[in-house]
Parts: sequence; C-alpha cells; structure tokens
Amino acid sequence: MKKICKWYYCCPIKFYVDRGKLDKKWVENYCLVDNHDCIRYQMEEKGQYHPDNMLPDGTIKEDLD
Ligand code: SF4
Repeated sequence: MKKICKWYYCCPIKFYVDRGKLDKKWVENYCLVDNHDCIRYQMEEKGQYHPDNMLPDGTIKEDLD
C-alpha cells in the first residue's frame, strides 16, 4: 500500500488539484507516494515559510490562486 504525505490533507496543492487548478500529476508524483523530494515537504519540516503557490518542485506558479 502506498503511503500518503503527512501534510496531504492540509496542503494547498491538494486543494488546487481538487478544484481543477493544477494537474493531478503533482499529487500522483509527490503527495500520494510520500515523495520527500518535495520542496514544500522539506521546507515544512524545517519550519520555513513557503507560499501556497509554490509547487512540489519549488517552482512558483504565479497564476495560481
Ligand atoms: S505538496 Fe509536498 S508537502 Fe504538500 S502534500 Fe504534496 S508532497 Fe506533501
């Protein structure tokens, strides 16, 4: 069974995908497989600020709201 990222249910990336604002590949490649390469995950672990529109690969997606 695949492990889901512990931040999944409060992560804005999930909500963007749910609302059709973001391709589901992001949750499939990161969130749903607990991929710790996720920059959001790494920054969350260190308590570092990161904006809601920062993608798991660290890219800022300006048109995301
Ligand atoms: S974007 Fe990163 S931190 Fe957020 S749920 Fe997905 S893997 Fe976890």
